[in-house]
Amino acid sequence: MIDSKLYLVGIRKDTGEYEEEADACQLCKKMIINAGIKEVIIKNKEGYRTIDVEDWVKNDDLLEGKITY
Ligand SMILES: [Zn+2]
Repeated sequence: MIDSKLYLVGIRKDTGEYEEEADACQLCKKMIINAGIKEVIIKNKEGYRTIDVEDWVKNDDLLEGKITY
């Protein structure tokens, strides 16, 4: 999976709409980093946003004391 892309989409169960704040949780971020995935592409209502996984390595939420879902 080195340098691969992962596509992520979240659909709200209550409305059937795309989840605008869809994101990987901290555990999934660690697994994505360890798998060597290069980009995560997240679908939202307007289109897509692309995350460079290297940004998660450089800006680790856990090291900043942030706990997310
Ligand atoms: Zn997760």
